Amino acid sequence: MSDHLSLMAIYAHPDDEQGVSGSFAKYARQGVNTTIICGTRGEVGEIAPGVDATPETLGQVREAEMRCAAAKIGLRHLYMFEYRDSGMVGTPENNDERCLHQADLIEVAEKVTRIVREQKPQVMITFDAWGGYGHPDHIQMHKAALLAFWLAGDARAFPEHLKQGLETWTPQKLYFNVWPRTRFTAYMEYLQKEGKEIPEWMVGFGQRALPDEVITTRVDVSEFAKLKLESLQCHASQLGPNTIFSQIPREVWLSMATRETFMLAESRMGRASDETDLFEGIVQEGKE
Ligand SMILES: [Zn+2]
Repeated sequence: MSDHLSLMAIYAHPDDEQGVSGSFAKYARQGVNTTIICGTRGEVGEIAPGVDATPETLGQVREAEMRCAAAKIGLRHLYMFEYRDSGMVGTPENNDERCLHQADLIEVAEKVTRIVREQKPQVMITFDAWGGYGHPDHIQMHKAALLAFWLAGDARAFPEHLKQGLETWTPQKLYFNVWPRTRFTAYMEYLQKEGKEIPEWMVGFGQRALPDEVITTRVDVSEFAKLKLESLQCHASQLGPNTIFSQIPREVWLSMATRETFMLAESRMGRASDETDLFEGIVQEGKE
């Protein structure tokens, strides 16, 4: 049944896929063709103590971590672009001419569109317009995914692909992977109750997070929560002792990680409000 179903996520760094790792594991097990695009290797990320990496080697280390995480969730296709991580907003790395933030948007969109035409996803997933928390690479990949969603099916867009033997492909739904506001609030309350300091970047996050009403789709991944944790642990360089994740007890995290939430943002098949399946309503090409 799932042999022609295809799911694609468009992200920026190794570990961005953590918000959807349970869904990816779930659909991979059902035989869905799964693809993740990573716009950079995350060279500018942190290096947790004890991890054998330097700023020079971090890109390679994080690529290996991403491959480890991908293997855990049974991912079929991982694409990594050659752009450099742009770093958090306002940092000097934003100005590096090799970085994703400085790249031409149409050039990035062409690369994503090519992969859409290769892997033929009915369903695409990316960041919301704010990239979750304003990271310039997240915003760039969001824009490229949005363009690719509308352009991949249009023969006038990037006609060189067609000359190279690819066909146009029309994805049916594009989701943003978002956390509802109440989940943020619960998270902050938990930290406060435990007497843990809320990091600067997280203050105000609750207000910025989208209201629960925008969530159209909740995927039950409780069966995959342990696998989700294992795939997260692959990203060892990003799990220093001061990160919020490291401060949450395993049981709490496992219970938080049982449901992944999405907002249907672009659709060629009407609206959605209370779905439990990203492929709800999808009609496979050539089938009725
Ligand atoms: Zn990221």
